Amino acid sequence: MVSRVIPVDPFDLVIFGGTGDLARRKILPGLFRRFCAGQIPENSRIIAAARSEMDDDGYRDLAREAIEEFGRKKGRDKKAVKAFLKHLYYVPVDAKGEGGWKQLKERLRDDDDVVRAFYFSVGPSLFSDLAEGLQVNGLSHRDVRIVVEKPFGHDLESARELNEELAKHFHEDQIYRIDHYLGKETVQNLMAVRFGNMLFEPLWNAQYVDHIQITVSETVGVGGRGSYYDNAGAMRDMVQNHLMQLLCLIAMEPPARFEADAVRDEKLKVIRALDPVDPDQIVRGQYTSDGQMPSYREDAENPTSKTESYIALKCYISNWRWANTPFYLRTGKRLNAQASEIAVVFKDAPHSIFGIDAGRHRNVLSIRLQPNEGMTLGVTIKEPGPGGMRLVDVPLDMSFAEALGPEAEEAADAYERLIMDVIRGNQTLFMRGDEVEAAWAWTDPLIEGWERRGDSPKPYDAGSGGPDDAAFLINRDGRRWRRIQT
Ligand code: NAD
Repeated sequence: MVSRVIPVDPFDLVIFGGTGDLARRKILPGLFRRFCAGQIPENSRIIAAARSEMDDDGYRDLAREAIEEFGRKKGRDKKAVKAFLKHLYYVPVDAKGEGGWKQLKERLRDDDDVVRAFYFSVGPSLFSDLAEGLQVNGLSHRDVRIVVEKPFGHDLESARELNEELAKHFHEDQIYRIDHYLGKETVQNLMAVRFGNMLFEPLWNAQYVDHIQITVSETVGVGGRGSYYDNAGAMRDMVQNHLMQLLCLIAMEPPARFEADAVRDEKLKVIRALDPVDPDQIVRGQYTSDGQMPSYREDAENPTSKTESYIALKCYISNWRWANTPFYLRTGKRLNAQASEIAVVFKDAPHSIFGIDAGRHRNVLSIRLQPNEGMTLGVTIKEPGPGGMRLVDVPLDMSFAEALGPEAEEAADAYERLIMDVIRGNQTLFMRGDEVEAAWAWTDPLIEGWERRGDSPKPYDAGSGGPDDAAFLINRDGRRWRRIQT
């Protein structure tokens, strides 16, 4: 299969926080890969701006090391790296002060044909300063785009304030709020599968779907970012954004077109149709030491922390399509598997003509985000052999890497895809301000509830599958969590 690379216009991309962890780990290696794919036009500039004193050469060294450390090894070629580095520049800028803005302005081209984008890869406390700095220092115009990293607010009030701050300087069509889950290949494939096939969509509703599970399971702990995480917890760090976005894409009505506002309108309707969740439908957990790995409280350096590193909950979407269909969500750190999956579990066939002894299986469509991105459809067939009519469940497995070959392996990482969408001016895979606020409006009362009650999270062993109560949450409905494939 021949890969089709869609060209983009020449651009000036400023990365505020260009020396930080995210820039080194994701943004620079991602841009390098887009360069190798021929998507960085010759006269494009990538200008890093951060607090450290450094010149262009110093920054190019930093970028080379970042690409070597975090970029994919396959196909990396020193000549290509060298050519890519020529696109890079560095300007020291203090987001909170006056220094550096004039020099940054001089590096940018005043040309209507050059796309101008600013990536705010800095802590959220600097987002408003940067927005204002761009305006007062004359770096902004009507076509400028800004990319805002997560977390977008800490609750509804702070998200609203941030939206208002940004709106003072930018129109909504200039603001690209990143949720990198939306940039994942499988997540977009989910939409292709739902809306590109006749097979699934007619069955995609309460009449045929028994329930849906969304799992994001991580083996890493919170060490290294404990102070941030301890003020957030799994609900704010994962559910309010990533899991909510996945839920929206699974549950939304078909948009009329695959266009930013058409898609985002439908996602917003889903969030607004979410019922409040009863406290007994939420299980919060916190990992304890297994004797080898440290406990959450050690990682967070807070011996009395009540922050959850795990959450499982059951929720309902009160609309015609999904009435009474449970959505089970779970996510946590220091679990026994690094894997993310969405599973659509269909109802039993209404009647088994083979009798009870033949066995019965449900169809499950599993969409794997990692590892080994792909989809599996569990179908029931006859067990081979002469032993009578016995039914077994077999997977119709589509690993993207196997089905699509090297191209799937080469598929752009979420960040590189999203950055290219910014340059193209396509907001479909970015969150709109009202979506983010609606998501906080749903999560805030849940968080306030457990804080008011002083609930402590349930302990679970580091490296385990999470707290026992999470299994009970689903088992008492006569269902069980899917075993996570690693
Ligand atoms: P970091 O602390 O590693 O880097 C912060 C960057 O901001 C540095 O380049 C620093 O020089 C710059 N900076 C700090 N104060 C400044 C100032 N006053 N003026 C100009 N520049 C200043 O942070 P990070 O991990 O790269 O995260 C950046 C953003 O991305 C944060 O909002 C974070 O929540 C988000 N994020 C990071 C990751 C990740 O994997 N690191 C993942 C998702 C989201």
